[in-house]
Amino acid sequence: MIARVRGRALPDGEYVDLYADGDRWTSDPVPGAELVAEGWLLPGLVDAHTHPGAEEPGDPMDDEILRADLHRHVDAGVTMIRSPGLPGEPPEWFGAEPGLPRAVHAGPWIAQHGEFFDGWGRRATHAELPALAAEQAKRTGWAKVIADWQTGDDAVPSDVLTAVVEAVHAVGGRLAVHSQHAAGGEAAVAAGVDSVEHGMWLDPGYLPDMAARGTALTPTLSVFQAALGRARDREDTPRKRWFVGGAEAHPALVVAAAEAGVKILAGTDSRPHGRVGDEIRALAEAGLRPHHALAAGSWAAREYLGLPGLVPGAPADAVVYAEDPREDLGQLEHPVAVVLRGVRVR
Ligand SMILES: [Zn+2]
Repeated sequence: MIARVRGRALPDGEYVDLYADGDRWTSDPVPGAELVAEGWLLPGLVDAHTHPGAEEPGDPMDDEILRADLHRHVDAGVTMIRSPGLPGEPPEWFGAEPGLPRAVHAGPWIAQHGEFFDGWGRRATHAELPALAAEQAKRTGWAKVIADWQTGDDAVPSDVLTAVVEAVHAVGGRLAVHSQHAAGGEAAVAAGVDSVEHGMWLDPGYLPDMAARGTALTPTLSVFQAALGRARDREDTPRKRWFVGGAEAHPALVVAAAEAGVKILAGTDSRPHGRVGDEIRALAEAGLRPHHALAAGSWAAREYLGLPGLVPGAPADAVVYAEDPREDLGQLEHPVAVVLRGVRVR
């Protein structure tokens, strides 16, 4: 069956009537096309920070778990993901399998010795970091570096991160950096990384610089908010003060980032998969306008990852809602239809 969708397409709300010509949308009628659904259209939801393929931190990549995780994403209306770090090298079909989301990824994480989850990622000295990240980015377009880890650990120095950015950009790649402490955030912004992941404790004074340089922020707000209640009940330690203080300040930081013009990306960083709707709603609850919260988990994230929205010539993905999803973000996981690569998958 050749898919056809029509209705009001976000972000502009313009009326479109699109036919799938293979994996491309066209406005020229395609003989034999059947109307899949009519309503409010997105090019699909995007989870820009998700690590499918393993149950627990440190577990190896498991293809069955990977497949199940990706099905959960599609069932929730996600047509594209970015994995800034994976439990292992993904199988050939990752990102290309009919019925499963498009994907960009950074391969296994890259961290300093003595930091990050045991069993996950690669370790490198400061001298080795630029070449290792560039080699990864050359293969997949992205590399992911863990700039800081636990309370008391050293962050990757900004001159080292600057060398990593230069090496990654020299091969045409982009660099995502994990940061949850002030020092890591400062080093990441100074180095001009492409995206700051989490950004907890980031000094708001750096936000205008991020906006000017096009550095995106993936705040993973909902996973922090979910952990906050449990964290408050723990005994008082430096680690608790770090997490509770950072997570409590995070919603206001995200709003300030959006107001400063920083590109915000919705990412879940948690299991079970398929919950980017929670992140979009958390962004809205923090104070982003629903239009901008939805952009972070749909068209703006997709554009950031290199794909156009619902226009002729674009890859043939669409998620159709009965009502304007900005009016009711509770609809997000309950689309009327999901079209992926020109085929209705839900
Ligand atoms: Zn992560």
